[in-house]
Order: sequence, then C-alpha cells, then structure tokens
Amino acid sequence: MTITLQFIGAARFVTGSKHLLTVNGKNVLLDCGMVQGPRKIANKANQDLGLRDTRVDAVVLSHAHIDHSGSLPRLVKLGFSGEIHCTPATKDLMEILLTDSAHIQAQDAKHLRRRGHAFDPPYDLDDVEKTVKRTRTHGYHEPFDVVPGVKVQFLDSGHILGSAFVVIDVDDGQRQQRIVFTGDHGRRGIPILRDPERLPECDVLITEATYGDRLHAKRVDLESSLEQVVNEEERDGGRILIPAFSVGRTQNVLMYLGKLLREKRIRPQPIYIDSPMSKKVTQLTARYPELFDADMQELLRSGHDPFFFEGVRYVADVEESKSLNDLRQGIILAASGMCEAGRILHHLKQSVTRPEDCVLAVGYMAQGTLGRKLIDGYEHVNILGERYAVRCKVRSISGLSAHADYGELLSSFRHLAPRARVFVVHGEEDATLKFADKLLDAGFTKVDVPVKREKFEV
Ligand SMILES: [Zn+2]
Repeated sequence: MTITLQFIGAARFVTGSKHLLTVNGKNVLLDCGMVQGPRKIANKANQDLGLRDTRVDAVVLSHAHIDHSGSLPRLVKLGFSGEIHCTPATKDLMEILLTDSAHIQAQDAKHLRRRGHAFDPPYDLDDVEKTVKRTRTHGYHEPFDVVPGVKVQFLDSGHILGSAFVVIDVDDGQRQQRIVFTGDHGRRGIPILRDPERLPECDVLITEATYGDRLHAKRVDLESSLEQVVNEEERDGGRILIPAFSVGRTQNVLMYLGKLLREKRIRPQPIYIDSPMSKKVTQLTARYPELFDADMQELLRSGHDPFFFEGVRYVADVEESKSLNDLRQGIILAASGMCEAGRILHHLKQSVTRPEDCVLAVGYMAQGTLGRKLIDGYEHVNILGERYAVRCKVRSISGLSAHADYGELLSSFRHLAPRARVFVVHGEEDATLKFADKLLDAGFTKVDVPVKREKFEV
C-alpha cells in the first residue's frame, strides 16, 4: 500500500486550499476552499473543484475561512456523502460564512443574468444546510478516526476562532507516518485568541506560506493608537469609520474600545456595528469563552462583557443603517474590510468629503481596492459609481495580521528539522519558493513546492 498526497488547490496560489491524502485506497480531503480572485477564473474553478473523478471519503477542515471551507457545499452538491470533521467553533462559524457566500452567489447570478450572462451558482442555501448536517465536531486534543488507518487530532493554531493545526497519524499496514497540516498558521499575541500550540514531531509537514517572503511591521499598540485617534476625533468634532471584516478584526477593535471606555481613556460615545454578519460572528465568539486567551479570561472573570457593553449598538436593518447618515460624532464599524462592498461604502460617501471625519484602516488592504487607494492618499476616489474628492483624514494601524510571517513560521518549525519532509502551499508562487529556500537554510533537507495537481508518495 502507499500513502500519497496530491495538491489540488492553493498550490503556488493563496486561495482554494484543497489537498488530497490517499491511504489504503481511501481519499481524505484536507480543506475544500473556494478560489477567490478574478471572477472568470474563480467561477470555473469553483464549479468543477479540480477533483475529476476522485471519490472523496471524508473531509478534514482546518478552519472556517471561505478559502478553506467555501467549496464544501459544492462538494456535497456533486454527491459527497461522507463526514466533514472540524472543531465545534469552526462548524458554527462555517455555517455563518457559507450562508453568506450562498447569498453573494445568488446575487451575483442575478446581476449577471440581468446583463445577459448565464451563471449557475456553484451552490445554494439548501446545499449549505446539507453540508452543515454532514459535519462531525471534535475538540482540540481529542483524537478521532477518519477512515481506516487515518487518525486525526486538532491543535489550536491561533489564527481565527476554532482554527486548527491538523495532526494526522497514518498507518497503511506497513508504515506509520505522521503528517501535520498547518491550515493557516496564527501568531502569538493576537488579541482574544490563544497562541498557536507547539507542533509535534512529524514525518511530513504541509505548511502555508502567505507571508513566506515577508516580515510583518513591528506590532503597533492597537490600544493606544485607537485611543489617540478617538480622542483626536473628539476634538475635531467628526466621526470615525472603521472598515472591518466580520471575523476577527471587528471583535478585536470592540474589545479595545471597551477597555478604553472602562479605563476612561476615551469619552463615552455611540459605537455602531453596522453589519448583520459581524453581529452574528460576535455573538458566536462570545459563546466560546473557553477558547480565549488569559487576558480575555481575566476580563470575563471581572464581570465585563468584551463585545456587548454600554454604548455599542448592533445595527439591524438597512433603514437603521441609513439613519446613520445623520451621525456626526461617534464610531461606525462596517464591512467589508477593504471597502470593496457592503455598508461601509454608504458611510464613506458621507464622510469622505468632510475634513473633520476620519477613516481608520485596521486591516490589510489589497492593491486596487478602495481601502488601499484611501491609504495611499488618492485625491479622488470612486464610490458606488460616483467620483468624490477625498477630504477626510485617513489613518492606518497595521501589523495586526492573523497569519504568521516567515520568521514566526521558522521558529514554529525549527524543532521539526531535519526529519520532516516539507510541502509549501498557500502562498503566491514567489513567496512559496522563497520560503522553501529559507526552510533549506534552516536545516530541512527535503522541501517541495508542489504545482497544481502534483502528486507525491510519502
Ligand atoms: Zn484563514
């Protein structure tokens, strides 16, 4: 018998995480992520999944981000009838994110059809429901059997709520191999979450390399930077818009605002969370206090609610969102994080021309996005088809990424050299190749950067 690994997605590419482990004739898919990017390429990839006629027997999911879980309903729609294994928080978070994804696709299809293009969404809400029913949840450090000869255990990877390193013990009757899949590798000291756990000794390591060629900027103190911006706005008499994704960053900012208020470092003021999904994700996060780090545990013990405190209002409907047009002072958090869609755009239309208002960027802004243009100091921007002169202040707090950089990855892996054979995935081609060189320098002797669909016996 042989043990093989085939890299179906996220091979010399960032999104679409999907790797196939075959043992004793059974196929186990590690992640089943959606490809994100230019619509034409993404649509095609998200329809056929690249699995050809492989019959998948089980799925093990590292975490809920759409580029790791987003094609699961498609897999189910194409006939998958096995189990999907993940942590309890991943299951709950995945349900929210997949439901949102199905809505976006239905809207996209409607929009494209109106313009005369046929587009069948890869899945709908019904498929999402069926997918959730196929999940089996397992806590961290609780080994479970996936298929004969494949036992898995999740460790906390410190990336997002419920995220896991996947430790796979494989036995093909002749050999035992331990394979570790990082999913997305988190960072030490990320607010709310616990630090990534130490990886166990292994024979094979499959690692992400999103920041395989980069080091993060020195971590800024989000707490005091926020304090400074909020007090500045208090003086200037304007409002603050914070574009933020629903998972992670919204909860981080809220937690710090609550702390600043309790310590009377900022004055009480209205804080609006204007995103239905952010509300759901925040409620969900609050349901998993056992996953929080020591600081959050301490906060809960002292009787404070990190997310639902006085002054915070979760905006329910579009009407209430529109009424925020009249808000001249206060803080609005809204999605999307890069200002590409969502309610943040409507608020930006109001604020971008007012010198007293401030846009505060707290996350990564990709090239070409409206958020990036604002940070880069464009004098004019287009918002929802109209051109606006940028007169507001734009502030940026960086260094808060939830992905380890190459220095952090190397220190997490150092004790695995030289034994572990490494496969580098989930990064732009350049980043993965450069990271492979760094691994060789660090003492690893067998390092591969698979191309799409490449298969290895391990
Ligand atoms: Zn992720």
